[in-house]
Amino acid sequence: MGLFGGRKTVFVDADILVIGGGMAGCGATYEARHWGRDLKIVCVEKANIERSGAVAQGLYAINCYMGMQWGENQPEDHVRYARNDLMGLVREDLGYDIARHVDGSVHQFEEWGLPMMRDAKTGRYQREGKWQIMIHGESYKPIVAEAARKAATEVYNRIMVTHLLMDNKAKRVAGAVGFNVRTGDYHVFRAKAVIVGAGGASHIFKPRSVGEGMGRTWYAPWSSGSAYALPIQVGAKMMQMENRIVLARFKDGYGPVGAYFLHLKTYTQNGYGDEYESKWKEHTRALVGDYIDHHPTPTCLRNHAFLQEVAAGRGPIRMVTKEAFQDPHKETVGWENFLGMTIGQAVVWASQNIDPKYINPELTTSEPYVMGFSRTCSGAWASGPEDCAPADYQWGYNRMMTVDGLFGAGDTIGGSAHKFSSGSFTEGRIAAKAAVKYVMEKGRDQPQVSEQEYRDLEKLIYQPLENYRVGRNEIVAGTVSPSYLLPIHGLQRLEKIMDEYVGGISSNYVTNSMLLERGLELLTMLKEDMNSMGAEDLHQLQRTWELNHRILASESVTHHTLFRKETRWPGYYYRGDHMKLDDKDWHCFTLSRYDQHSGKWAMEKAPVHHIID
Ligand SMILES: Cc1cc2nc3c(=O)[nH]c(=O)nc-3n(C[C@H](O)[C@H](O)[C@H](O)COP(=O)(O)OP(=O)(O)OC[C@H]3O[C@@H](n4cnc5c(N)ncnc54)[C@H](O)[C@@H]3O)c2cc1C
Repeated sequence: MGLFGGRKTVFVDADILVIGGGMAGCGATYEARHWGRDLKIVCVEKANIERSGAVAQGLYAINCYMGMQWGENQPEDHVRYARNDLMGLVREDLGYDIARHVDGSVHQFEEWGLPMMRDAKTGRYQREGKWQIMIHGESYKPIVAEAARKAATEVYNRIMVTHLLMDNKAKRVAGAVGFNVRTGDYHVFRAKAVIVGAGGASHIFKPRSVGEGMGRTWYAPWSSGSAYALPIQVGAKMMQMENRIVLARFKDGYGPVGAYFLHLKTYTQNGYGDEYESKWKEHTRALVGDYIDHHPTPTCLRNHAFLQEVAAGRGPIRMVTKEAFQDPHKETVGWENFLGMTIGQAVVWASQNIDPKYINPELTTSEPYVMGFSRTCSGAWASGPEDCAPADYQWGYNRMMTVDGLFGAGDTIGGSAHKFSSGSFTEGRIAAKAAVKYVMEKGRDQPQVSEQEYRDLEKLIYQPLENYRVGRNEIVAGTVSPSYLLPIHGLQRLEKIMDEYVGGISSNYVTNSMLLERGLELLTMLKEDMNSMGAEDLHQLQRTWELNHRILASESVTHHTLFRKETRWPGYYYRGDHMKLDDKDWHCFTLSRYDQHSGKWAMEKAPVHHIID
């Protein structure tokens, strides 16, 4: 294989394999050691767990903390909150399970050295909203990673996992394969149980920042949908993948607005300086009924008012910062909020002569993202906790997907909205505890890995390097070749399809069945062309496999969007042919299952059980 002819195959055996060393993966690795003292626990990560995942750059707040020690909130309150924000559709058993354990995780972070802000009067953690507590969080990720590093038997950094392995006879997961993005070595992981914690999906819809701003996105640009594609490939059921999120953010830097609203008490107004949200109430009621009267107003409905106001020609929407920033303390907090978490926003303001003390900065709505942690909850359909999940949400071990031995946590798992960093870590712990139980109960019963399967995958995985080596001599101009496609071209094609057909920014988030059907046809053609992908080096090989994962996640999103014939979350997306929310027929989850052999998707509905009053 030319340049990489010296490639080695590295075999790794594990009892538990954790894929992705972000918040959920670190939580899983840490907890697996607690329950499985003698087990071999391996964590594999495509970057370096020290600074990987969505928390790589640090955070300024932990967004999910009950404060039960001070009687601030109870887990039931959090379930009600998430349910309301998601227009009724959450897995209450999963959310409750996280909420009852999340405080313990946060206390551990503090023990491990995470500096928490405290209220000078009460001594409690400083709140910035009902659920958020403030931290000096620049080193949040290295602190959490240290705990995982110490717990793991081995951590393999710089390995991009591309596929899961199955024991087809025993019908259970058997491990995973991937390649080292620095050396090119092929890695075959054999494991008794696998926990996927590989983050969400950005860059599946065309972003607002293109050209010179490309790569600047709200969600981490390296969140490549592996969390969904890996389980989808082996037939795991996905849920609510249509539930993409659109965020109101500071323009051009995607700076978050939470601390501004909650802590600095800033507010929004239209281009004429008027309040606008209340004006859209009756209009919204006609679409969604009394969901508009719920408190707090569901996030998608606030987006809806924003989008309507701009469409009515009264933009831009601005955040009124001029008043709050007269207070030197609030001014400092406003800037520090970005310096500790989204430095790019501070740089954008500096470069555009925006001093929020004198100019009210513009807001915009982002392109859509797919994830399981926030004000949306797409992801894998998982078995719930034994003590509180309804019978049809239980088929084995907590957080096990519909594939035997395959677990998930964080962005990977659907239905448990509003878990954020602390909840994702906690869900990793929950999944790991169950995975240890699974491994213990299986005893010596070990899954078998087929050599044929991992050798076939090896050929497939490295093929883009070969395509490039052969085809590069045929370049017609610059990077244009008649025989291969580069990953960046494939990515831009994917983003354009999703944007124009599946409800991205260019169509003002509107789609319909005709557009979705055409989008699926174009995605199929893109998938076919992926066989002609050319990768110049290992970096581009990684980009190729990230793109493959993004495409599969996108296909899933498109099928789900087509299946749900209503507009459940106006402000996130609109089914132009079914503009109203329809609780009679669609107060349910949507589930999908992909068959990798036929390439077909099977869709079904699942009931939403409300277990909290
Ligand atoms: C902009 C932004 C702001 C946020 N603000 C807050 C906040 O203020 N407070 C809060 O509590 N939470 C916040 N969050 C949420 C928090 O970051 C997420 O909930 C949490 O990181 C999700 O954990 P995860 O493990 O699922 O994903 P991640 O932490 O993203 O981890 C996924 C890991 O998987 C790895 N990976 C991906 N694909 C592969 C592959 N194929 N092979 C190997 N490894 C792979 C990635 O490199 C990464 O390390 C924010 C998130 C974002 C993006």
